Amino acid sequence: IKDMADDEAIQATNDDASECKRYAVQLGYWCDPFISLLVKQTARKQPEINRGYYARVKGIELFVDKFLKLSGGKGQIINLGAGFDTLYWRLREAGNSPANFMELDFPSITAKKCYHIKKHKQLIDMLNTEDGEIRFSTTDLHAANYHLVGTDLRHIAELNNKLAQAEVNFNLPTMFLAECVLVYVDASATSSLLKWLAGKFPNSLFVSYEQVNMKDKFGQVMLSNLRSRGCLLAGVEDCESLETQQRRFTINNWEGTSAWTMVDVYDSLPVMDRSRIEHIEMLDERELLTQLLQHYCIAVAWNGQTFKNLSIAQG
Ligand code: SAM
Repeated sequence: IKDMADDEAIQATNDDASECKRYAVQLGYWCDPFISLLVKQTARKQPEINRGYYARVKGIELFVDKFLKLSGGKGQIINLGAGFDTLYWRLREAGNSPANFMELDFPSITAKKCYHIKKHKQLIDMLNTEDGEIRFSTTDLHAANYHLVGTDLRHIAELNNKLAQAEVNFNLPTMFLAECVLVYVDASATSSLLKWLAGKFPNSLFVSYEQVNMKDKFGQVMLSNLRSRGCLLAGVEDCESLETQQRRFTINNWEGTSAWTMVDVYDSLPVMDRSRIEHIEMLDERELLTQLLQHYCIAVAWNGQTFKNLSIAQG
């Protein structure tokens, strides 16, 4: 029962993420015509939170763009713990879709997403269906190059099965996305997952966004951070530093890795864009933003030559 309560609390983190994204979009931080179809009106968020989300979304997009360029549109994106992410539709709108796009989350979340997709013509019309066929159950949806499936990332056999249903091709260039997800998965399950993916996808890039620098000045993991909004951060030990974030990949057979705090990611974004969003809302204390950004990072890992040594440098 305790585990189920924790799983429910974890699933509720999706509400938080998608509400924050919707609010920042509404203020004009970035453009996303689809998020408001998935999330209702939300309460006001602090300016530093909005800027933090801006850096998160733009930081991820930076690697998505690099992946799409390097794979020449012939790759697949697998979004782990996708929640209500709208990346598939944003890429479709930009005419920049990969060959296949898979989204995985707990069935309770994918069921809600299926419901919203079915309800909104704008979302369903953009699913690429050459033969016009879209198959769906309560929790899963299959279109020509978009698959939404309900599964628990801690169960590899089930994951394998769901990926097969989503027409995965292990030999295609593959990008995995885990945006604020692995921190909710315990270290041993994350290890099994990363090891399994490394063994199955020889030509791949993993992009992970999550907490970092979670130790206090005495070297202890900050206990207050072990739970966030009532939910156990089971994977927090790996969030100690950029080094532990990277080691998680290398010990699980990924060939190479890099990691940056969001301070570096934010500073790497184009000056014009930063200057534009910095004018949306006043931020009295810039230090608040820096503190926030220091506690999040993007870690990437690769297998094979195609995605070797990717960095946050623009272009
Ligand atoms: N990636 C989305 C984003 O950034 O907008 C959602 C982030 S939300 C903080 C974390 C998501 O990970 C939730 O949707 C949650 O259900 C999912 N998640 C966590 N543990 C999972 C697991 N073991 N299996 C499947 N999904 C999981």
